Amino acid sequence: MAILPASSIAKHRSVTLRASERAFTLPDLSGPEAFMAFSVRRGGVSSSPYDSLNFSVGQGDTSDSVRTNFDRLTEDLEIEPKHMATCKQVHGDHIEIIRTIPKTPPVADALITPIKGVFVAVKTADCLPVLLLDKSRGIASAVHAGWRGTVMRILPKVVDRMAKEFGTKPEDMVAALGPAIGPCCYEVDDKVLNPFRESIPDPERFITVVNNGNTASRRIDLALVNRFELIGKGVREENIHHANLCTCCNPDLFFSYRRDGALSGRQISLTGFRI
Ligand SMILES: [Zn+2]
Repeated sequence: MAILPASSIAKHRSVTLRASERAFTLPDLSGPEAFMAFSVRRGGVSSSPYDSLNFSVGQGDTSDSVRTNFDRLTEDLEIEPKHMATCKQVHGDHIEIIRTIPKTPPVADALITPIKGVFVAVKTADCLPVLLLDKSRGIASAVHAGWRGTVMRILPKVVDRMAKEFGTKPEDMVAALGPAIGPCCYEVDDKVLNPFRESIPDPERFITVVNNGNTASRRIDLALVNRFELIGKGVREENIHHANLCTCCNPDLFFSYRRDGALSGRQISLTGFRI
């Protein structure tokens, strides 16, 4: 496969998502049948530092607050909280197929469902959430792609799995890359750069060098890498949407691990088909 220069699409298809009170949705994809939604941190009940629409108890927020936050968001989206599947994310590349809502969230970093009325979700605080829909076959997926998942090539693996299990054709897929830490803020060291360079084809396309006097720092564009991963699998460029919002630069909208540290809350990204 030919390797495209990053400049060919870097500034392409950046879409302004429509904001409802607690989530952004993609206007041309969200309607009575299917939706793709990315939460923002407003309109919830959690107190500082999780204020206010936080979806994770793992950092110290109360389960009551998180449950109320789930209730509020799902009410906005007109779905039942009990119809939503989440996963215990471990920065790996395991993909779980969801046919019924599990009692305990499976250990996975990507979920795929072929069932209408089941909604799949991932939680993030800088990592890239990616939502995928195959509208012709009714297949939905939510993927958690931080630097580790990206290095493990989790997104192309999900595209392959959708094709293998359900016959999804990449040209029928629609993808949305959600809010994540942007190349403006995502400075990385060799711990990230070394495996990134070993795994990603022509990796320097996605690394920006910033000179600060005598020293230079390096930044990665996670969304751009994963956009190329989708195009490399045959997803049409015009079907890849991007929120183009940096979690670290927008403290009023998003939680950010890089900015807020270990006590950062989590936003949620979810998709699926209504019955
Ligand atoms: Zn930023």
